[in-house]
Amino acid sequence: VLKNDLAAQAIDHCIFPIIDAAEVKRDGPAIVASGTGLTIIDGAGKPHLDMISAYTRANSLGYGNQEIARAMYDQMVKMHYAGTVSIVTEPMVQLARSLAELTPGKLSRAFFVSGGSEAVESAVKIAKQYQVGSGKKPHAYKIISRWNAYHGATAGAMALTNHLSVANTPDPAMPGVSKIPNPSCYRNPFGMAEDEYFEFCANYLEQQILHEGPELVAAFIGEPVMQANGTQIPSKAYWQRVREICSKYGVMLIIDEVICCFGRTGAWFATEHFGIEPDIMTMAKALTAGYAPMGAVMTTEAIADAIPHFRHVHTFSGHAGCAAAANAVIAIKKREGLIDKAYDNGVYFLAALKDKLTDLPSVGDIRGIGHWHAVDFTSNKKTKALPEPRMVKAIADKMKSLGVLVGAAGTAIEVAPGLIATREDFDRTVDAFKEAIVAIAKDYEI
Ligand code: PLP
Repeated sequence: VLKNDLAAQAIDHCIFPIIDAAEVKRDGPAIVASGTGLTIIDGAGKPHLDMISAYTRANSLGYGNQEIARAMYDQMVKMHYAGTVSIVTEPMVQLARSLAELTPGKLSRAFFVSGGSEAVESAVKIAKQYQVGSGKKPHAYKIISRWNAYHGATAGAMALTNHLSVANTPDPAMPGVSKIPNPSCYRNPFGMAEDEYFEFCANYLEQQILHEGPELVAAFIGEPVMQANGTQIPSKAYWQRVREICSKYGVMLIIDEVICCFGRTGAWFATEHFGIEPDIMTMAKALTAGYAPMGAVMTTEAIADAIPHFRHVHTFSGHAGCAAAANAVIAIKKREGLIDKAYDNGVYFLAALKDKLTDLPSVGDIRGIGHWHAVDFTSNKKTKALPEPRMVKAIADKMKSLGVLVGAAGTAIEVAPGLIATREDFDRTVDAFKEAIVAIAKDYEI
């Protein structure tokens, strides 16, 4: 009987990432049939309010957007893909020009890829080939990343990542990578106050560069706002100090905006909140609002020009149909003023979450910006003790049963809807959160 069933066929023929295979076999994959706006309809016909942008935080304009689909269609029937190397198409160049306008500082040269991991791989190659090509650091091969970082699942990006969920174990990763503490909010392993810890983390970078040998360190990479344990927003001072240290030692600053870009934090790029200029910036996900697989790397004219011959290529780099999707996404976000609206919605939602949830005994911290918030849990408010991981997952599951999709991220639950989310959607999410926490936490005696 099950053979004709989509879930059973999926189990027979698909490989499922990250999750325990036995779990998928037991529970079945989640079937998604269709979507409009922020509502998706599952395989049983039940509607869900997607407050987590298809879990990956990519779908920043909801489902069924005909303007984006039409822009892609029009381009696909005209010229869907023309090749790569020195071949360009109109939508690709238009996109490169828009990115030069929208990205901060002197970033003006784009290299296109098919997703976040490829963007990170390309950024690292730009950094290394710049160091050699410019003659500044002919032997530089080391990259410094951070604890709890997520930069992707391909070999190089995986080495920069600090998540067992995508690591080959046991397996030595790409050599030359070292990791320093990340500026986590609310709790950190040393029990320091938040600002003190941010300062410690930034200064650690200088010590690490000295320890590794400045002439060997090509780049430092970091997510401007980190996802690990939910929406980690460091201080402006943290990023300014990191920028200062990178400049002092000729270390390329790679800002990985893959998850933050195009409005997630209420700015085109999260980097803007911190007033810094990266040397290299990666982006993907919301670049096309999930309508096409595409990523990009931006760098400056000076860096691009110092690479005599960029030894790198991807077949689908600059794909015209994907670029048409990205151009439509940018046009919609500009026309509808969605970036500024996202910032204002974030202020509203944070206040509502704090108002309704702060006093619950299992809620340790509530933070967020734009359309990206986290409720961080604890089993003891005074000591900030870690919550029972099953409790965090059970609260997210309970919210799903109430028709609101959110994402468990370590000790926290994140809310990260598309930029079309309304105040009513946020209000409904706050109510579902409260109902789910109250219903579940008592099972864990909190
Ligand atoms: N970098 C960051 C900051 C990310 O959040 C992700 C994915 O979540 C990646 C890179 C990898 O992107 P992809 O999954 O498209 O390869």
